[in-house]
Amino acid sequence: MGLVVQKYGGSSVADAEGIKRVAKRIVEAKKNGHQVVAVVSAMGDTTDELIDLAEQVSPMPAGRELDMLLTAGERISMALLAMAIKNLGHSAQSFTGSQAGVITDSVHNKARIIDVTPGRIRTSVDEGNIAIVAGFQGVSQDSKDITTLGRGGSDTTAVALAAALDAEVCEIYTDVDGVFTADPRVVKKAKKIDWIAFEDMLELAASGSKVLLHRCVEYARRYNIPIHVRSSFSGLQGTWVSSEPLVRKTQQQGDKQVEQAIISGVAHDTSEAKVTVVGVPDKPGEAAAIFRAISDAEINIDMIVQNVSAASTGLTDISFTLPKSEGRKAIDALEKNKAGIGFDSLRYDDQIGKISLVGAGMKTNPGVTADFFKALSDAGVNIELISTSEIRISVVTRADDVNEAVRAVHSAFGLDSDSDEAVVYGGTGR
Ligand code: ADP
Ligand code: ASP
Ligand code: MG
Repeated sequence: MGLVVQKYGGSSVADAEGIKRVAKRIVEAKKNGHQVVAVVSAMGDTTDELIDLAEQVSPMPAGRELDMLLTAGERISMALLAMAIKNLGHSAQSFTGSQAGVITDSVHNKARIIDVTPGRIRTSVDEGNIAIVAGFQGVSQDSKDITTLGRGGSDTTAVALAAALDAEVCEIYTDVDGVFTADPRVVKKAKKIDWIAFEDMLELAASGSKVLLHRCVEYARRYNIPIHVRSSFSGLQGTWVSSEPLVRKTQQQGDKQVEQAIISGVAHDTSEAKVTVVGVPDKPGEAAAIFRAISDAEINIDMIVQNVSAASTGLTDISFTLPKSEGRKAIDALEKNKAGIGFDSLRYDDQIGKISLVGAGMKTNPGVTADFFKALSDAGVNIELISTSEIRISVVTRADDVNEAVRAVHSAFGLDSDSDEAVVYGGTGR
């Protein structure tokens, strides 16, 4: 029996009862003969509450100090979990990200892991302990300051440790039974997926399915670490995310290959906003100047559209989407460069949502795009922006239309299950 890395999200450790329940689960894995490293998130909505608190003190808190504050959330849960495990008669030691050897670059609030040196964790488990690691945090190689990995970053901590420790599997425990064909909070008839390839999961995660963080899936694919997403509240098998199709034993048929579906699922995201740069001269170099200003401010953007210019004015509009949390920074960066770029004005719209349909089978099924647009139009949903990749179509709509649109698309592609199997065990969905 090898080493397993288990990650428990905030809703799994939301209160003392939750922490005790998780402690029992970890001890079970240990009793089954595994070495166990458990990565833990902050309790419940602690991270959101700490951000709210910081904003009451300062509207734009310094990145370094915000990271110091937010990492406190995971420290609370790691220490409590270690105590709860000791109370069950097993030895456990908790470690901060820095103590666990999670080394990052120095970009506060969204640092990237550049190395993992888990010497202390290895020693701890070799001595018979259960190691508990605070997720979502590391230490900058250059500045030695404490960093955080961006929202949902505990998933990445878990996969990075699983890779560095050569774990058998990385188990992600959460408040739903696995990865579903849509967010079970929105689509009651969503179906649990038994197996999904890294590529499809990457697109779902990048399109807003926060059950797994995009970066964590990227990391798992690079190091070929199988992920098992499952509930910490039920004993059910969850979803396997890996490069190879899962082979399952069925009683009647012996070994059965689980086929990949044409459509993996529908994702939605209401965390983005749209910026429109109005009255841009339609000449070479303009888009370059706009997106240089944005990238110099270290802002990641998602979709871009440039409208056809009006022949009479020679001016055009360029719209792009970005995380709402970066909106103010983007507007500031563009205003500062207004003279150089030469646009008329800026419009900011944070009442948008994005709906994406993901599936590797799209490549060979040309009707998918038309069916997707038909489903949206039947539901009376207006499309504002469109973008596509080989295995994804995304549209931007009004935020108010998103839930209805997701349900309409889910039904139109025959993804609805016959039963209401999608259970949400906890969490506030915040
Ligand atoms: P944790 O606190 O365990 O990290 P998250 O809230 O980050 O949990 O992620 C779990 C949530 O992801 C679920 O409660 C669900 O609402 C949401 N979610 C979005 N899309 C999906 C999907 N396709 N399958 C399962 N859950 C999804
Ligand atoms: N606590 C952090 C967050 O809420 C990290 C995580 O839970 O993965 O984003
Ligand atoms: Mg999460």
